[in-house]
Amino acid sequence: MSDCIFCKIVEGKIPSTKIFENEKVIGFKDLRPQAVIHNLFIHKKHTKNINDLSQNDPSQLAEMFEAMRLYSEQENLSKDGFRIVTNLGPNAGQTVFHTHFHLLAGEPLGHFGS
Ligand code: 5GP
Ligand code: ZN
Repeated sequence: MSDCIFCKIVEGKIPSTKIFENEKVIGFKDLRPQAVIHNLFIHKKHTKNINDLSQNDPSQLAEMFEAMRLYSEQENLSKDGFRIVTNLGPNAGQTVFHTHFHLLAGEPLGHFGS
């Protein structure tokens, strides 16, 4: 999509610090990190949120989780652990309307739920 900042990152029109790339998916550092390691994983093909993706192009899900698995193995993150988060809509605070997963790691993360 022409006015989507993450599509522009895919196209290289906006700079990013890439930490993963394959044919379908890229991972890059979040501009405003909320943890020692805070990366965003996106599919190169635009969808606006996880429900749009799930309804219209569900195979993207496996491709993104495969990418995050490969990255977590490469960086040896499984031992200490990591968190994957996606936001949909205003109550969750979604600000970029190109589906993305936040991958947070590198330190103990605040626990939610009890
Ligand atoms: P959301 O709030 O939609 O779940 O997440 C959007 C994330 O994208 C935020 O954590 C924000 O810091 C990050 N972000 C916004 N614009 C850019 C950008 O141009 N480059 C990078 N690397 N991250 C961005
Ligand atoms: Zn996009």
